[in-house]
Amino acid sequence: MTKPEILRLDSQQADFSDQLDKLLAWESVSNKEVNRTVEDILERVKAEGDAAVVEFTNRFDRLNVSSMQELEFTQQDLQQALDNLPEDQHKALTIAAQRVRDYHERQKGESWQYQEADGTLLGQKVTPMDKAGLYVPGGKASYPSSVLMNAIPAHVAGVEELIMVVPTPDGEVNQLVLAAAALAGVSRAFAIGGAQAIAALAYGTETIPKVDKIVGPGNIFVATAKRAVYGTVGIDMIAGPSEILVICDGQTDPDWIAMDLFSQAEHDEDAQPILISTDAAFLDQVSASIEKLLPTMERQAIIGCSLADRAALIKVADLEEAARVNNRIAPEHLELSVEDPQALLPLIKHAGAIFMGRYTAEALGDYCAGPNHVLPTSGTARFSSPLGVYDFQKRSSLIMFSEAGASEMGKVASVLARGESLTAHARSAEYRIKQ
Ligand code: NAD
Repeated sequence: MTKPEILRLDSQQADFSDQLDKLLAWESVSNKEVNRTVEDILERVKAEGDAAVVEFTNRFDRLNVSSMQELEFTQQDLQQALDNLPEDQHKALTIAAQRVRDYHERQKGESWQYQEADGTLLGQKVTPMDKAGLYVPGGKASYPSSVLMNAIPAHVAGVEELIMVVPTPDGEVNQLVLAAAALAGVSRAFAIGGAQAIAALAYGTETIPKVDKIVGPGNIFVATAKRAVYGTVGIDMIAGPSEILVICDGQTDPDWIAMDLFSQAEHDEDAQPILISTDAAFLDQVSASIEKLLPTMERQAIIGCSLADRAALIKVADLEEAARVNNRIAPEHLELSVEDPQALLPLIKHAGAIFMGRYTAEALGDYCAGPNHVLPTSGTARFSSPLGVYDFQKRSSLIMFSEAGASEMGKVASVLARGESLTAHARSAEYRIKQ
């Protein structure tokens, strides 16, 4: 393949800000045809339940089944997959699952209460959702790591029923995905995907339970369906293509940095790899590494597209400026490949996950570091967070007034309620004022 031309930017250029805006302009494809397809699938599944799910699964995943029962994996299927894994995979999956669990245990929110001097009690009660729907993508590739990242936080939160869906195109079942489901405590698992799986989880069918929230990444059919069912159920986020931003002081092996950029580029032609450095010569070295290493990559066609269409190598004056540019981009993954990442950290405001130091390849975070790999994309790290235990917990406010407290606050509420002309509110509070 021909060498991809990668955009070079310099923060000293007069039009740098405009160039950066152009680089980041990404409209998550709003495709009218996909919208219509998804709408039809949602309506049919809502109205016809299992029969429609079976029909769409046969059509889109090229299966030939006649009932939903044939599309459900039993607990025995999951356990057998785990028991029969080759030893190295069993060990790697178990280590990854344990680390993801240990990390997420620390995220668990606890209920709290406090008492005021007059005996009034206030607090917050934290409870898990009853049922979570876990979408595990499976169209073009299988993602056992996504099973762990979706299911373990839900399990740690205390969600009782974890319903997993994963498409099996042409009937190809990935045993590592089933094994991961067994390890992560999935309650029920179905071989369905796409918009029909999202619809089944959102509305419920004769066989598939209606859930409270659907989480997990997927293609445009999945993302469009999740957006459409939001409100009927909760969703975690609408995920766009992967992104990696590397800030490097020029002292890391350029081959390492080139491969780190490839590691996200290989996900998708639309993935966005960006390198920022204070050292122009280092950007040249990484360019040379890219040229040298790209022909050795299995997914060089996808990586080549991502590099040519969405990548950039950016020269900045210093690391402070690098941090400012990062904060404008708010990337999904940020690598701080610098001598003292802790010193740079306070300047970093927006990023889904921050990988600190030359040894911390983003790829470790995808599988086994512990933190979640389901992360906000397309600049949404400005206002949202990685998938976590908190996504499966909700909070109820607790209020218990003492007699004295009700009397005092009754006076306050009465004044405010009368100000709003809400007389029933005012009188309800006034009844409890001590005469
Ligand atoms: P997928 O499971 O998301 O989609 C497959 C399903 O799409 C099929 O089962 C089918 O029902 C439906 N579909 C396909 N063509 C259709 C059509 N023409 N009409 C209607 N429905 C159709 O699997 P995928 O396609 O491999 O996509 C997975 C996505 O998830 C990728 O973009 C990948 O990069 C992303 N991903 C993200 C993360 C993350 O953490 N952010 C992790 C893993 C995967």
